[in-house]
Amino acid sequence: MSQAKTIKEQIGFLIGLQVIDREIYSLNREKKEMPARIKTIDETLGSKKTGIKQAEEDLKSLQVKLKDREVSLQQKEDQIKKLQLQLYQLKSNKDYSAMLTEIEGVKADNSLMEEEIIKLMDEIEAARKKIAEEKELFKKEEVSSQKEKEAIKARGKEVDSRLSDLSSQRENVVPNIEKQILARYERVLENREGLAIVAVDDGACSGCHMNLPSQVVSEAKIKESIVVCGSCSRILYVEDSVEIN
Ligand SMILES: [Zn+2]
Repeated sequence: MSQAKTIKEQIGFLIGLQVIDREIYSLNREKKEMPARIKTIDETLGSKKTGIKQAEEDLKSLQVKLKDREVSLQQKEDQIKKLQLQLYQLKSNKDYSAMLTEIEGVKADNSLMEEEIIKLMDEIEAARKKIAEEKELFKKEEVSSQKEKEAIKARGKEVDSRLSDLSSQRENVVPNIEKQILARYERVLENREGLAIVAVDDGACSGCHMNLPSQVVSEAKIKESIVVCGSCSRILYVEDSVEIN
């Protein structure tokens, strides 16, 4: 300090410092939230990717099932042909009609299997369509997520540059304040969400809104000593233009 400053003058500097520190506090908080925001974007995209992979797995199982049914159907049809050939070699009516019943049974099974095959084909087609749509959507989301992440990173750079400006501004103000007063201010700043010095507003602390004893308000108005709120410990001041009774 080149020249000792009065408490009143120092309070003036603290008020100016608070404006700077308020912005520093909010910028630091914004910066701190950025990695979580990026993580959320990546996780959202990741879970969509997993969803598509799962849908592709499901599609594969449907295709395997279809192949299996088609093979079975072919086998049954071969079986019918075989039975039909045997049919004409049978001598007794009883054997003949038993064989006919067997053939009818296999034919009935086949018709059920054909229905199942058609149903599977429809399911496969629908699944394919859905996967194609989701992949298309995913591509767009990937692009927009990338843009969003770039915007966050660009903002991060802006914040850093602003923080460095504010830090220089702070260095210009700080030498005007006594070390002890500054230390007290900084302690409150850290414990009270970046707000360490507040105006008295209508007899109350504008930091925590508790009513203040009139003695405290008078002292805060005179500015001959550092006056703090008994409830939140913030440094108090009364604007010079404000009249108190
Ligand atoms: Zn308070």
